Amino acid sequence: MIKKAGIFVLVVSLFLVLLGTGLVQARGELTILDNSAEVEFPAKLRFYLSAESDVNITDIRLHYTVDRESFAQVTSEVYIEFMPDTTLDVQWTWDMRKTGGLPPGSNLEYWWTVADVNGDKIETTPLRVQFDDNRYSWQGLTEGKVTIYWYEGGESFVGEIMLAAQQALARLTEDTGAYLKKPVEIYVYANTRDLRGAMIFPQEWTGGVAFTTYGVITIGIATNNLSWGKGAITHELTHLVIHQMTFNPYTGLPNWLEEGLAKYTEGELGAEFTAYIERAIAENSLISVRSLSSPFSAYAEESYLSYAQSYSLVEFLITSYGQGKMLELLNTFSAGSSYDGALERIYGFDMDGLDTLWRDYITGQYQGVEMTTVAISPVLVRTSTEPASGLLLDLRLAAQTRAWRQGW
Ligand SMILES: [Zn+2]
Repeated sequence: MIKKAGIFVLVVSLFLVLLGTGLVQARGELTILDNSAEVEFPAKLRFYLSAESDVNITDIRLHYTVDRESFAQVTSEVYIEFMPDTTLDVQWTWDMRKTGGLPPGSNLEYWWTVADVNGDKIETTPLRVQFDDNRYSWQGLTEGKVTIYWYEGGESFVGEIMLAAQQALARLTEDTGAYLKKPVEIYVYANTRDLRGAMIFPQEWTGGVAFTTYGVITIGIATNNLSWGKGAITHELTHLVIHQMTFNPYTGLPNWLEEGLAKYTEGELGAEFTAYIERAIAENSLISVRSLSSPFSAYAEESYLSYAQSYSLVEFLITSYGQGKMLELLNTFSAGSSYDGALERIYGFDMDGLDTLWRDYITGQYQGVEMTTVAISPVLVRTSTEPASGLLLDLRLAAQTRAWRQGW
């Protein structure tokens, strides 16, 4: 008995010694020599890793997560291709042209896992990298939850933009009770050419881009184009607030509500829009509320009418039923509700009911009004270097946001 126990102890000891040398020693020899990331805004983000081991390294993976609003934390894993070796320098380039771009100032966390042929594995400490547009010397101005970054134009230029942003937020809260819950950042490029240089797929007509899940707006505002810029920022900032107020995994807002709130915050509807409503009433060609719940037509004429009607629908709801009901409607959508269900619950009518009530409202409003003489422009896309209105900015943004979502 005693003899058997002795052998058993010896075997166990030997096993522990082997285990010790095998694991602990090898782990000490699998080493990370260098680990970094390099930003090449807007198209590329390069990651570098150097590692060595006393045996062949056989598996290297890069892991990263991007800070953005989402319901599930998404970690991307990249398998690095290489020939097994004891010393390795590898790099991987995130080509934004394949996935859609990130807005300036995006934050990422990344780490590597490295394994050798013995099965030893190292996970590096997560590092953070900021995807900054470091081609310009940005200055920052923060007021409340809004930060504006700019690099051209003086204090009064940025002061006017900040004032427009703050007034937009105040007006939106007054009209709807909606407010910014999280900080937003606005990057003001000196002109649309610079802005396009910051985009992955620049389009001639791009005036700005709203990255709603990041809380970032990028826009090109020349100093001589400030009034357009203020309107566009008001419009896009409204979209960010409404996004923050209603973000949910189930449904979005009907398009007429989304765009109507943004137009309404901009202020009184311009004659270039009201002319379309007047004509549609005269020709009995108003678009139904149900149709306006889907994305708008890209054709200018229908698009102008869609925005104009959306403005009017929101005006009707706010002026007839008050701010409190609008806030309740937004909260109902944030809990996830069908379009008809939300309207019925808060106002007691569905989209068809709204359509009927609103047609009476708008017809009464325009009755006896002389037809305005503003020319109705059939232009689909303006090709001038400066976009002419917030509307045109917005059409692009919708496309950009969609492209981005598909990438993820
Ligand atoms: Zn819009």
